[in-house]
Amino acid sequence: ARALAYAPADLCESRLKPANANLTHPVRAAFVVLARNSELHTLRASIRQLEDQFNARHRYPYVFLNDEPFTAEFKQAMEWATTGDCHFGFVPYEHWSMPPWVDRPRALWAMRAMGATVPYGGSESYRKMCRFESGFFYRHPLLDEYDYYWRVEPGVEFTCAIPYDPFKYLADTGKLYGFAISLREFPATVRTLWATTNAFRAAYPEYIAANNTLRWLTTPGGEYNMCHFWSNMEIASLAFFRSPEYEAYFDFLDRAGGFFLERWGDAPVHSLAVAMFLRKSQVHFFDIGYHHPPFQNCPTDPEFNARHCFCNQNRSAIHNSDSCTRAWLELGPSNA
Ligand code: GDP
Ligand code: MN
Repeated sequence: ARALAYAPADLCESRLKPANANLTHPVRAAFVVLARNSELHTLRASIRQLEDQFNARHRYPYVFLNDEPFTAEFKQAMEWATTGDCHFGFVPYEHWSMPPWVDRPRALWAMRAMGATVPYGGSESYRKMCRFESGFFYRHPLLDEYDYYWRVEPGVEFTCAIPYDPFKYLADTGKLYGFAISLREFPATVRTLWATTNAFRAAYPEYIAANNTLRWLTTPGGEYNMCHFWSNMEIASLAFFRSPEYEAYFDFLDRAGGFFLERWGDAPVHSLAVAMFLRKSQVHFFDIGYHHPPFQNCPTDPEFNARHCFCNQNRSAIHNSDSCTRAWLELGPSNA
């Protein structure tokens, strides 16, 4: 039981479009967008593409979250850029901070030491963001009424039509997690994440799935190979994150302090959880046109690409030696 101080009503606002009043969706789902007021224009561009390629035909709602209050200008711009209803929420301090049990001087020293050696190495706010996206986004009360979410970030592009409903696809197939890009993490940011995860597995063996996919991200020597699903684009079940095993894993990691003493990203954290708790058949590679600079996924099917995309298949991250997607698709049955 965590002490929670949620935002007062004036920091949570829903703007419902009258045209959507009688709309029903096959799945209780929403786009979830963590963003700063200063990202208004890059986000607006991303959302207009998402609307053109998919959502104008579906009108799924949006949940916008921020550690500062959204401005009236931001809210108006998002309301006008979207077809779905818009909900704007504030992230409480407890969900966006260095927890009190972390040795703050040690964390500040570690941040300074990491500095410019890796992206965001010296950033405290980036670490708060990664902790929030690892353990708190799915607990925001604005998400209570949804079963699935699709994470959207400012500046991303949707480079192909999406002629089916990915939320419905997950629900119909019983899958719980979907990704578009996978890559290798910077080792300096996760020095003790694997050891901490192994300690968690030893403490909670009952939570580890029998046909798990840990072999996807393990080296022959039994170390972490740095593979992770790129979490800036994930379409997934909220029940997966709200499960006792996921929450136990996040709490275990949070207690260890690595979000601040190192720079654990939400991408490797989500990925390790998927690998421990899900079978391969519960995870889906969404081959959709998606660009988060500097990487993109561009669909492989030549006819689909020619008809519906504006991306170059040769540029797709799946051809990059740092991509782990082929290894995922070719992953054989567990030996366990
Ligand atoms: P990157 O993708 O790892 O380079 O990190 P981003 O800068 O894209 O941040 C990831 C997500 O968190 C994006 O949706 C950002 O808008 C959001 N974000 C990052 N830092 C902050 C912050 O300090 N406040 C808020 N409200 N959102 C943030
Ligand atoms: Mn980003």
